[in-house]
Amino acid sequence: MPRLALSSGSRGTELKERAPRDAGAARAAGAATSGVPAALRAIGVRPSRRLGQNFLIDPRVAERIVALVEDPREAVIEIGPGLGALTTLLAATGRELTAVELDLRLAEALETRLAVWPAARVVRGDILEQRAEDLASGPATVVANLPYSITTPALEWIVTQGGRVKRAVLMVQREYAQRLSAKPGGKEHGSITVFLQLHAEVRVLFRVSPGAFHPRPEVDSVVLEVVPRPYPGTTAEERASVERLARAGMGTRRKTLANALGRALGMEGAVVRAWLGAAGVDPERRGETLTVDEWIALARVAPRRMTT
Ligand code: SAM
Repeated sequence: MPRLALSSGSRGTELKERAPRDAGAARAAGAATSGVPAALRAIGVRPSRRLGQNFLIDPRVAERIVALVEDPREAVIEIGPGLGALTTLLAATGRELTAVELDLRLAEALETRLAVWPAARVVRGDILEQRAEDLASGPATVVANLPYSITTPALEWIVTQGGRVKRAVLMVQREYAQRLSAKPGGKEHGSITVFLQLHAEVRVLFRVSPGAFHPRPEVDSVVLEVVPRPYPGTTAEERASVERLARAGMGTRRKTLANALGRALGMEGAVVRAWLGAAGVDPERRGETLTVDEWIALARVAPRRMTT
């Protein structure tokens, strides 16, 4: 049965009918994922490693990602739309959509393609220099096949937009995703693991093989859902302290926590040991074995000058 979808354009907000998996939208996705090498040649783009340009060529993967953002009333910010594999599907619902693209040749080509959907626009530039509140009229969902080169700063950007990003659906390299959910003690556990746990809930949704992209990457990817939220029971000041301490305590892998913190923070060994003792943390442990709750305990009893 067809559903009613809100479509807001320059002619005002109107109601139009949309089938669950709109045939026009599917065609649009097909157009943006097929013939990618030829489309790139036509606009003079050679895929750039620096810009993390691995374009999606499998329309089923594009559809699966966009199906996770079903409600057309949800405003979307897309990071790095490229040739528009996800963008055209998202725009075809008539939703508010802002796609931020750094490569000006891709941005220009996409602008032409999006002209038929008045609620969709392209912003030329670096996502890391934008503010979500300037990109969407209210809290928005971020969608991206993320350029590998900016995965960490993009995640930091997503969780620091003051509530203007309510959710993100992101394609990232599988190994990177494993770091995000790594348990303390493993070699993949690091300060980004702690950072993201402090600021968001993260869920791996599904895996995507290298064959879904052009050029083909060497590794698998996964699609993640990231929902920004502060770690329960913590203040903004405590979270900021934990970030600093975790970076200092995990900067030098093989060192004990007491040595790593003492060195990074310029503290006497005896003072560090007394501090760790007060938090109930063994000074001989390595930083990457601490849970988020233990970092929080450390931050709460830290000498003030160490956390600011
Ligand atoms: N979304 C397209 C797709 O799935 O086929 C392209 C994804 S490709 C992995 C990453 C895209 O992000 C490229 O179009 C690249 O030019 C763009 N990009 C790279 N760095 C960016 C940045 N800092 N801000 C915005 N876009 C960026």
